[in-house]
Amino acid sequence: MTVRTRFAPSPTGFLHIGGARTALYNYLYAKKNGGSFILRVEDTDAERNTESSMDIILDSMKWLGLDWDEGPRVGGEYGPYNQSERSDIYDRYLGQLEENGHIYEDDGAIRFRVPDKTITVHDKICGDVSANLKEQGSRRYNQETKKEEEANPDIVIRRPDGSYIFHFVNVVDDIEMEITHVIRGEDHISNTPKHLALFEAFGATPPVFAHIPLNLNPSGSKMGKRDEGALIHEYRDAGFLPEAVNNYMALLGWSAKDDTEIFTMAELTERFDLPGVTKSNSKFDFAKCKWVNAEHLKRLSPEALLEAARSFVDDADLPADDPRMPAALELARERAEVLAEIPDVIETIYADEATYDDASFEKVRGREGVADVVKALHDGLAGVDDWNVDNIKSAIAAAAEGIGAKMGTLMLPCRVGVMGSTSGADLVPVLELIGKEGVLKRLDIFVGKLA
Ligand code: GLU
Repeated sequence: MTVRTRFAPSPTGFLHIGGARTALYNYLYAKKNGGSFILRVEDTDAERNTESSMDIILDSMKWLGLDWDEGPRVGGEYGPYNQSERSDIYDRYLGQLEENGHIYEDDGAIRFRVPDKTITVHDKICGDVSANLKEQGSRRYNQETKKEEEANPDIVIRRPDGSYIFHFVNVVDDIEMEITHVIRGEDHISNTPKHLALFEAFGATPPVFAHIPLNLNPSGSKMGKRDEGALIHEYRDAGFLPEAVNNYMALLGWSAKDDTEIFTMAELTERFDLPGVTKSNSKFDFAKCKWVNAEHLKRLSPEALLEAARSFVDDADLPADDPRMPAALELARERAEVLAEIPDVIETIYADEATYDDASFEKVRGREGVADVVKALHDGLAGVDDWNVDNIKSAIAAAAEGIGAKMGTLMLPCRVGVMGSTSGADLVPVLELIGKEGVLKRLDIFVGKLA
């Protein structure tokens, strides 16, 4: 049997992290088993359905690298992959239910007769979940009486306007597209007995079901689209690496059962499996997500780091192809958790002068004899012939000795004088990259300001 999984989003106009995680798990499961990953657009709700709202979802999937083997933009043997284009297929399946006496008309709508028996979902994650749809009945809120009332348990599968209901098209497509594994959010588990009843009515073997626990926001409620970190297209702009986002999403509800937390896509594909999916809901943690990204930044090759950082560097008007840039990025990746933080760390290297941060400046100015310290530093550095990290360090040490001070006493004024702030990248490599002339000029200006 060839494994066939699918991700079946509705065109909401964004890819939510919960949906993206579902897509990822389906992708990994298919790839791990040498199967196919299908993207199906559940766009029967005409009001919400616009092409651009689907584009954001498809672009987000592409950015994550969750390439689908069949679906919109790529086609495939089981198409069309938009439910809005599959009415003929649905009509045919409806006819089949009619022939076998499974449906009846009710006020213009079509209802599917639910069986009066216990239906058990053997879920790969949640275990067995049983329901008797007839007994369980259905409840409906009555607008007029403002009360919940008993309602007909038979499922409406086609509305009076002729449009089909989710349960019906979802099952028909899973049959038609020969889906073998349905991995989806736990919010769907209450629908699954209905789906199993439909599979049975069609005489079809149902797929394996695996409902994954929900991903909640830090306060423990359902993660909405306004919560920080909810929308995938915002990760790109914030400077996350797609592989890191996949890595973090994998950890939201799955663990490798050892302490490993950082995975490449190839490692995830190899190690992901349904028994590793946790049974309890996960809580989204943006700080952890940034940490995972920082770990991936540290592991990039210098070339890949430059490529990943390029658009952020360009947007900050910094010269991406400057020969010093690879070294600057090495310093930046020690500090930055996301690519968008890189320009801040390295811009001092490319500035004409230091921009002083007030608090840092005041901190240094308050030190006794600081102008003399900076002068000694200036003169010591002026004597360096071969401008490199080792020689710069030795010159600072010698300057300190010359005025009977510890080397550490010179470092802070040097940092603030050259870089403008007490924080930032490693000082000496930055001095090397700025160059001798630039450093001496900045120290001159600084002495003037301290006077
Ligand atoms: N369109 C459904 C949703 O977005 C898909 C459910 C399923 O995966 O079966 O929730």
